[in-house]
Amino acid sequence: MSTFEKPLIAEVVAIGDELTTGQRLDTNTQWLSERLTELGYCVMYHTTVADDLAANIAVFQAAIERADVVVATGGLGPTADDLTRDALAASVDVQLAFDDATLEYIRGLFERRGRVMPERNAVQAMFPEGSQQIFNPTGTAPGIQMQVERTNRQPCHLFALPGVPAEMFLMWEQSVVLALVERLPALQVIRHRRINCFGAGESHIEEMLPDVIRRGREPLVGITASGATIKLRITARGDDEEACFKAMEPTVQEIYELLGDLVFGEEADELQHAVIRLLSQREATLAVAEWSTAGRLAELLAAVDDERTSFVGGMVIQNVASLESLLSIKDSADLSATEFASAMAEATRRQAGTDFSLAISGAVRIDDITQSVEIALASAGETQTKRVSVFGDPDFDRLRTAKVAMNLLRLALLKQG
Ligand code: AMP
Ligand code: MG
Repeated sequence: MSTFEKPLIAEVVAIGDELTTGQRLDTNTQWLSERLTELGYCVMYHTTVADDLAANIAVFQAAIERADVVVATGGLGPTADDLTRDALAASVDVQLAFDDATLEYIRGLFERRGRVMPERNAVQAMFPEGSQQIFNPTGTAPGIQMQVERTNRQPCHLFALPGVPAEMFLMWEQSVVLALVERLPALQVIRHRRINCFGAGESHIEEMLPDVIRRGREPLVGITASGATIKLRITARGDDEEACFKAMEPTVQEIYELLGDLVFGEEADELQHAVIRLLSQREATLAVAEWSTAGRLAELLAAVDDERTSFVGGMVIQNVASLESLLSIKDSADLSATEFASAMAEATRRQAGTDFSLAISGAVRIDDITQSVEIALASAGETQTKRVSVFGDPDFDRLRTAKVAMNLLRLALLKQG
């Protein structure tokens, strides 16, 4: 088995007018990149190219030059716009040759379905000279595998797979992985861990972790925000999975120490999982009343409380009249927004008979763009409130407000011990 000093460079090439015109999202590249990264290759390039022969040839020539592994999808079909095989042959300056056995195989596939093979399908039995076929167990078009010699370097290994995702997945699993591992063993495997935080902005968290989030660091830590949740992604390389996780451990500890209770979970954990877990550990119950979030908070909690013992339910308020009849809050016009949220939370807790309740008020306009929402958390001893600013993207505002509410409860539960 040969080994190489540097990580091997991979490139994914996605081919098709449907991709470059934006009609179809290129999901194959994402999937292939994840697979290549897991195997330890460094995916340095993604190229998407239209069904154009000259453009495809240029793309393959560049890829062969700069990548050790090239995986392409698309353009292997029988129609005139399927140019991958021609482009591959031209890019390494060889001819296409018929493979009689493959032609018979494809003809047989049609016959077994009681059909005559359309003549244009014959082209799928043509391969660049010197290439090998990749068996396609579900479709007609075999894939193409080529080894392209390069001066003073190891050869480039090129795999062309169909664009149909299901066909591509199978051929990757059944053939390409084995060929890669045999011919081009990657140095190391790569594994990730994810630590999820809430309660501070992305740049604030970055400031709290100055040495951890540094480019080129091993293990590498990346930061992404989605729906106001901040996710830290830790990536390590190692000889095997165990070595990767061991290498990540000190970094994980450092993050926990520096971020404290900003961290609420790992991997696919969301705030609602953390809240339900904490409630369940304490055998505590929660009810909610929501005005400006249209039930988003209840939806998030209900979806993860499988036992149905911690989150008992909630109410969606749409107007003042319903507030008065559902929660028996009278003269609400005289209350400030904060008093109003507190009254909602206290009435909800009383009526539902729960240990905790969360209430989210209606939005109050602050200026032309900003509105604010009050959140109240009622428990046996006290009611606390928190103000959230919202900016007018209803989906995002509802989600973020619901998360701020859940986080208020999470911190209160942690404080209780
Ligand atoms: P092709 O092999 O180019 O004939 O592609 C066959 C079909 O697979 C296309 O019509 C698309 O629906 C789908 N497809 C092709 N490339 C991709 C891609 N990169 N990501 C997702 N779907 C794709
Ligand atoms: Mg196509």
